[in-house]
Amino acid sequence: MTNMITVVGASNWDTFIYVDKMPRIGETIKGRDLKVSYGGKAANQAVQAALLGSSCTLITKLGDDPSGVNTLKNFKDKNINCEYVSVVSNVPSGCATIIVDKNGDNNIIIIGGSNDLLNEKDIDNAKLQIQNSSLLLCQLEVSLNVTLSSLKVAKESNKCKTMLNLTPINNDPLVIEMLKFVDILIVNEIELIGLYNSNFNNNENNNEKEYNVNQLMEMCDKLIKKFENIENIIVTLGGNGQLLANKDNTKNCHIELKEKVNVVDTSGAGDSFIGSLAHYLVTENKSLKNSIESASKVASISVTRHGTQTSYPKANEIN
Ligand code: ADP
Repeated sequence: MTNMITVVGASNWDTFIYVDKMPRIGETIKGRDLKVSYGGKAANQAVQAALLGSSCTLITKLGDDPSGVNTLKNFKDKNINCEYVSVVSNVPSGCATIIVDKNGDNNIIIIGGSNDLLNEKDIDNAKLQIQNSSLLLCQLEVSLNVTLSSLKVAKESNKCKTMLNLTPINNDPLVIEMLKFVDILIVNEIELIGLYNSNFNNNENNNEKEYNVNQLMEMCDKLIKKFENIENIIVTLGGNGQLLANKDNTKNCHIELKEKVNVVDTSGAGDSFIGSLAHYLVTENKSLKNSIESASKVASISVTRHGTQTSYPKANEIN
């Protein structure tokens, strides 16, 4: 089947617990509120692409617990192809517990659970699926070996483009190996700086340092020169839009947001952007620059609403 997007990675069950003050060790406190939602970067990206109408297949692993059952139903409700969603016994589904205090500060505990069991055999089983897709989309929330073999399998076919969202940031040598099989790399500003520093041995302590758009673009140029197969790097800059760096650097550009929006909650905005980008590129066959502009519009709607997947717009909500 043509024009198909395949996403490989993690699904989570997110539990948000709202408290006035973080509990101290040994303390029992009453919380103010509880919200549960579907999460995991691969799941979020697949859901956003499917909501816009893409034909989307997700390769992920769930536990046989209630959250796994609900998550699978959620994927089916969103018309995601679940042929390669496997369910394992006696292991919890991946989950994140996020405790948020009244200042908005949080503590997060993540259990990989079933996500940690996604393995290279699962990718081998899905080999034809990946190779018949127009685009493979990966992140770094499952084992690095799984992501690496997915990208390698995709590049064995001439037709499947690969997109890697390099998050959460990871400097493992396997990530450098992965970059040899990536066509389009997507990072936020922090991830770009981390990747640049680890590749160009820049030991400067730049946690506090601010870089302007030209400096960030220069980092992209150097990375594209180093990893010759990478065709494009896209850097998301929150409310400052995106950078698009190309192999031919005369076409590099800063795409600014078309309009200001009333920001309510930016969680999951990056995944909304990436899922939409995949949709516009593959299903609507737009150029990369036009796809970024359209995806930016979708992500800017998502930040005006609460939650992650609950904030993602459907095709008919975008004018
Ligand atoms: P991440 O969540 O991965 O760090 P960003 O914060 O860069 O990613 O956000 C991803 C995309 O979401 C942006 O490129 C933009 O399209 C949209 N977005 C994020 N923050 C805002 C904002 N304040 N106003 C409008 N759109 C935003």
